[in-house]
Amino acid sequence: MKFQIDPRVAHLTAAQLTALTGRYHAGERAIDLVTEYQVRCAPNQLYRLLPPTVLRDRQCDICGAPLIQVRRSRPDATGPGNIVCSVCAHRADGPCGCAVCKRDRSEQRQREVMRCRAEQEAYCCARWSYAERVRAPDDLTFAEAVALLSVVRCGGWRANETVGAVGYSAVPLAPAGELGMQLLTSLIRAGVIAPDPDSPMEAFTASDDDLPAFPYVTYWRILTPSPTALVRRIEHLAEPGEWPQTWRDELGDMQLALALAECREFADYCLLERGLPEAPEVASEALFQNLLRDFSVAQCFRIIWAGAHATSDFLVRKRANRRHAANYFIGACQRWADRARTEAWTIKPGFRNNNYRRSQLSHVLYDVFLGIGEKGFIEPLGV
Ligand SMILES: [Zn+2]
Ligand SMILES: [Zn+2]
Repeated sequence: MKFQIDPRVAHLTAAQLTALTGRYHAGERAIDLVTEYQVRCAPNQLYRLLPPTVLRDRQCDICGAPLIQVRRSRPDATGPGNIVCSVCAHRADGPCGCAVCKRDRSEQRQREVMRCRAEQEAYCCARWSYAERVRAPDDLTFAEAVALLSVVRCGGWRANETVGAVGYSAVPLAPAGELGMQLLTSLIRAGVIAPDPDSPMEAFTASDDDLPAFPYVTYWRILTPSPTALVRRIEHLAEPGEWPQTWRDELGDMQLALALAECREFADYCLLERGLPEAPEVASEALFQNLLRDFSVAQCFRIIWAGAHATSDFLVRKRANRRHAANYFIGACQRWADRARTEAWTIKPGFRNNNYRRSQLSHVLYDVFLGIGEKGFIEPLGV
C-alpha cells in the first residue's frame, strides 16, 4: 500500500504539497486551503489527500519497509493515525488483519486446539481403559446388549465406528430420570464402551464417578476390534428363538426397570402439571412395583393419572398441607389398584404422554428383541 498521490492534489509540486500539509496541521482552516491550492474536494476530506508521515526510524516487523503514520483529520482531533507498513499493509501499532498476521493467529488457534486435544486424550486415558476385546454377542449380558443397541441407535455411527452423543437424538435414550445414566454407567463398568477422547470438549470437566461430566454430549468408543460387526451380530441374535438362556433369565429385570422408569416419568409429569409435590421415591417405587405385578404400564398410567387427579381434589377440598399431598397420591393409587383387583375391574389402558416420546430403550427392547412393539406397553409384563 505505497502511498499514491491523489489525482486531486497531483497538480501541486512536492514543495507545494509539503507546504499545504504543514499549514493544514498547523491548524489553518481547511476551507481556505482548498480554495488557495485549488483542491477539488470537500474541506473536511482534505486530510485524506495529504501524504502520510513517513517514520524513517521505524521498520515493518514483517517486511522491513519503513512505517508510515496515516493521516487523521487533525492530529489533536482524533489522536494520531494508525502506524502501518508503507509496503505490506501490516499494522504496527494495534490489531492487524494483514495476511501474515491472520495466518499467525490461525496457526496459534490450531496449536491451542491440538494442545486441548492432547490434554483431553491424556485425561481420558488416565480415567478409562480403552483395552479392546474380541466379543461375541452373548459375552454381553442381556441388559448390556439392550443398552448398547439403544446407545448406538440414539447416537448413530460416526467415522471410525465410534458412536455419537445420545443427547442429540430426537428419541430419548431412556425415560427421564436415572435409568439412562445407569445404562451408560453399566456399559462403561463392563468395559464395553468408553468415552471417546474426540468428544466435544464440553463433555469433560472434573467429575469423580465413572461417567464423564456430561455423558449426554459424549461420543463413545465400543471397545472391540469391529464395533459395527458386533452390533450386527447382536441384532441377529436378538431375533426370537436365537436368544441364549442367560438373556431369557434376565428379561424380566430389564422389562421391570423400564416399566418402573416409565411410571416414574409419568407420575412426575402428572404431579408437576397440577403443581403437586414429587412423590416420595421409596414409596412410589414400592407402589409401582406392586401395580406392575398385575397391570400393564398403560394401565398404571391410567391409575397414576387418576391418583394425581384425586390428590389435587383432596388438596382443594381439605385445604391440606402440600406435604400431605405426596403421601395422598401414593395411597390413592394403591386404593384404586386394590379395588380394581378385588372387584375385578377392567382398567382401560392409558396413553403415552405426548410430552415424553417413547424411549429408544423401549424401541430396542420391545421392537428389536421381543418383536411385540407397543404390546410391551399395553399388556401386563407378567413378571
Ligand atoms: Zn511490511
Ligand atoms: Zn500484520
